[in-house]
Amino acid sequence: MDFEKAIKIYKDFLKSKGLLYTQPREVVLKEAISATWHFSADELTSQMHSHGIYISRATVYRTLASMKEAGILNSVDFGHGHIHYEAPKAKKHHEHISCEKCGAICEIQIDNLDKAINSAAEKAKFKHIKYAIRISGVCEKC
Ligand SMILES: [Zn+2]
Ligand SMILES: [Zn+2]
Ligand SMILES: [Zn+2]
Repeated sequence: MDFEKAIKIYKDFLKSKGLLYTQPREVVLKEAISATWHFSADELTSQMHSHGIYISRATVYRTLASMKEAGILNSVDFGHGHIHYEAPKAKKHHEHISCEKCGAICEIQIDNLDKAINSAAEKAKFKHIKYAIRISGVCEKC
């Protein structure tokens, strides 16, 4: 998703919630959208600090959560006790596997997973299927 499009979606979302589009929110959005890997709110905060951008952790947390609600970011749970976010990219749907020892994360494709889940859910007469699966193991280095 490009920045312009993300901003538009986010502005509409905030408006619908009666919230203001502020400068700090825009800065967080810019950083989050350009991130190429999965990040936690803490990681994004430190990344911004290292770029000389000082925005409070609380603002980063709140902004990321609202971006997720607006559908601009996906969230992923690696079992770290906090949420990781990921900007939806033009790449194929993928799952994640995380290392239980060092926390390393790898993206994997599982053939026909989407199809299998959807057809099973449809058999149970469900619509608008969403799912999250958590896969972990021990990586090669560990
Ligand atoms: Zn983490
Ligand atoms: Zn490892
Ligand atoms: Zn990913």
